[in-house]
Amino acid sequence: MQAEEKGKINVETENIFPIIKKWLYSEKDIFLRELVSNASDAITKLKKIALSEEFEGGNEYRIDLDFDVDKRILTIEDNGLGMTVEEVKKYINQIAFSGATDFAKQYQNTENKAEIIGHFGLGFYSSFMVSKQVTIETKSYKAGQAAVMWSSESGTDFSISTIDKNTRGTKISLYLDSESGEYLDKWKLKELIKKYCDFLPVAIYVQGEKANREKPLWSEEPSKNSPDDYKDFYSYLFPFSGESLFHIHLNVDYPFRLQGILYFPKLTHELEASKNGIKLFCNHVFVSDNASELIPQFLTILKGTIDIPDLPLNVSRSYLQNDPLVKKISNHIIKKVADRLIDDFKKNRAKYEENWNDISIFVKYGVLTDDKFYDAMKDHLIFKNSENGFSTVSEYWEKNKEKNQNKIFYANETEMGSVYMQLLKSQGLEAILVDSKIDSHLIQHLETKNPDWKFQRVDSELADQVLDKDSKTDLVNEANETESSRITKLFESALPSEGVQVKVEALKSVDVPGVILLPEFMRRMTEMNSMFNREDTKSMLKAHTLMVNSKSPLVKSALQAFEGVNPEKGKKLARVIYDLSLLSAKVMDEKEVSEYTKRTTEFLQEIFST
Ligand code: ADP
Ligand code: MG
Repeated sequence: MQAEEKGKINVETENIFPIIKKWLYSEKDIFLRELVSNASDAITKLKKIALSEEFEGGNEYRIDLDFDVDKRILTIEDNGLGMTVEEVKKYINQIAFSGATDFAKQYQNTENKAEIIGHFGLGFYSSFMVSKQVTIETKSYKAGQAAVMWSSESGTDFSISTIDKNTRGTKISLYLDSESGEYLDKWKLKELIKKYCDFLPVAIYVQGEKANREKPLWSEEPSKNSPDDYKDFYSYLFPFSGESLFHIHLNVDYPFRLQGILYFPKLTHELEASKNGIKLFCNHVFVSDNASELIPQFLTILKGTIDIPDLPLNVSRSYLQNDPLVKKISNHIIKKVADRLIDDFKKNRAKYEENWNDISIFVKYGVLTDDKFYDAMKDHLIFKNSENGFSTVSEYWEKNKEKNQNKIFYANETEMGSVYMQLLKSQGLEAILVDSKIDSHLIQHLETKNPDWKFQRVDSELADQVLDKDSKTDLVNEANETESSRITKLFESALPSEGVQVKVEALKSVDVPGVILLPEFMRRMTEMNSMFNREDTKSMLKAHTLMVNSKSPLVKSALQAFEGVNPEKGKKLARVIYDLSLLSAKVMDEKEVSEYTKRTTEFLQEIFST
């Protein structure tokens, strides 16, 4: 090409630039991300070429940002592969321009305009958002190609000429408009590089000062990274988060490309999950720290990076939601997380149990909200048991099988030390610990999914094994009354009437005169209510059953007194038995405790003063 050549791009869309400029005003910063990522692409391409071809000019790759405050010029220069004159015409005048045109069209058709801004890469043409003139000076790595200067003031009228340029690569000069002086500032530029380009795999300098970290650990071969590399990377990304529990390195080539590192944070509060733990990248360029479209909600407690080069992450969020690839990616991540957990479960159970406290909340939440995760994890959910170990449901079945156990007994922390547990333990039975709010939902969920799994709270019904079925205690007296009905009569006359049902059974253990049973259904309702802070919680527990042990000597004495010389004393003793049972069940409130104390004191005084 001899002299200057002038041209004009598609007249129809001539005035999109002033419009784009106005629309994107609040997101102007992205022009820098676009230009620097183009420069980085140019270097990456040249690195690949360098594997097979020879070329001059060395290979110390770098990107340089410089500016001249007086002339109001900002330059972005790389020593990548450069462009020939034909390439400038093709890539800048046609391809880059059509990208900008597409954007304008899509923008006009998008309902939620606020979403698209900042997420759509305008590419090279975004430079016109901040400039009154843009020039490209470029020289291809190919031998014998003239250097080229492309210049435009409007984005549509351009001129191309050959120039003297000896160094390989591309230099973009932005003649900043009157509203964009903020970019003539080293700190501002460094800040933007840190935000968007920190992990581009090439050194970036702002006025000669290194501005990025490079080293995107997620793009390295996992086997080449040491545990310390992962640790350092975590503390670099999340400086005040302490150490992570463990990580998963995602590295997929097919059917989509995906790389990333997900860390399991050590939670200091139960639900401290941070929303912005996962940073999304597109080819090493930071896009967003909101990965909600790609990551199911239960995994948002994870921290780390995800890089998806083929997904147009910079397009609108609503577009992402409908992309079938997004669902595939999300499923892949769920599967990888489950695989990793199961691997630990199988190969390092001790570590799995050690981490359980930190990961159980999100595992349970995942099991409740995601069917695929449920399928993978259901046999790897572990519960603390009354033997101070952990069991899965099937391990619990296995251990309690020969005792004809058809239920999974569960208890909360307090109930673990209760009379109910003593009764179970005396028969060699175990219970699992169910102690957080999410657990009530989990149990419900597991029962729904597995009709033959039945969870039962230790205080809702006594295990058959605790009862003495062979006992012949239910004798009939002269008046043809069974012992059970006589005991029932005694207790019904001694107890406050509302809500309490009396049931007589023979327990194998004679040491327990009575226990309170709270219907399973009622307990679950109560639990749900307490989640919503309902006040009638305690009063629901007033409706319960008192199970009286006909084999207890105390019960026998009460009946004897009741039917003999001192019916009043028998009733008072029955009341004491009921009170003791209430105490064990921990369902008395303060007022009831003081009434109980008063009542019992009087009763004891009465006994010992005669
Ligand atoms: P995209 O990067 O998505 O292809 P852009 O509008 O950012 O779209 O750039 C259009 C094209 O211009 C690029 O694909 C590339 O071929 C060319 N290009 C832009 N900047 C450079 C550069 N610094 N060096 C070499 N080629 C470049
Ligand atoms: Mg680009």
